[in-house]
Amino acid sequence: MKPRLGFFDFTGCEGCQLEVINFEIELVELLELVDIVNFREAMTEKGEDYEIAFIDGAITTESDISRIKEIREQAKIVVAMGACASLGGVNCLKNFRPMEENLKIVYGDCAGYYNTIPARPVSAVVPVEYELPGCPMNRYEFLKLAKALLLGKKFELPNYPVCVECKMVGNVCVFDKGGFCLGPVTRAGCSAICVTTGRHCWGCRGLVDDPNVNSEKEILQKHGLTVDDILNQFRIFNGYLEVSK
Ligand code: SF4
Ligand code: SF4
Ligand code: SF4
Repeated sequence: MKPRLGFFDFTGCEGCQLEVINFEIELVELLELVDIVNFREAMTEKGEDYEIAFIDGAITTESDISRIKEIREQAKIVVAMGACASLGGVNCLKNFRPMEENLKIVYGDCAGYYNTIPARPVSAVVPVEYELPGCPMNRYEFLKLAKALLLGKKFELPNYPVCVECKMVGNVCVFDKGGFCLGPVTRAGCSAICVTTGRHCWGCRGLVDDPNVNSEKEILQKHGLTVDDILNQFRIFNGYLEVSK
């Protein structure tokens, strides 16, 4: 019997699920090896007998908490896909204001009809076996994890900073152009795509493990910065870390 997969969306733009759908050829090949029984963005059928649950989006309401707990009870393996599910992501920017104020800003006079709680990653509510960081997640990393799960092999994320990949593709450092970049403390795996396309790293793949050891200190020292200086700029995708300290 093929492994059964379910895809579930919580609070996010659903762009990480879209990355899976965008695969086309690879998705067809994957479908020869697995059965997808639940995937609202791609199909109408809704099976509840999945073994692996892929979660897109952060937990931001009380009902999200009960729903993710139910999914956890059913699934043998839970995978948090993307920055929202694995870090809390941009949703956690609201955690820096009172929840009532957020509701008022978004819903105005209708605020009383809605509820919201501080945003959090899936792992803050239930145990998670794997995380695929990034906004959106890297679809090739998704495939790598899918293959590892099917073959019973180990899956690990890179544990070195974006700067390493940035140098490998030959980019001019953003700091040398007078800008700011979170690459020295951000987990690699995206080939420094934002720098390559003319911008800087915003930290969407989260922190490398132990940034004090694994960060690109050479770049920070050259520009008179410390790991702590750069961590202070880490709020866009990693606000949950800041408020949960
Ligand atoms: S991580 Fe980014 S692409 Fe994925 S759901 Fe969140 S906002 Fe959308
Ligand atoms: S700081 Fe940013 S631009 Fe500079 S090498 Fe690192 S990732 Fe590239
Ligand atoms: S360069 Fe930074 S912000 Fe861009 S995808 Fe990579 S980790 Fe995310």
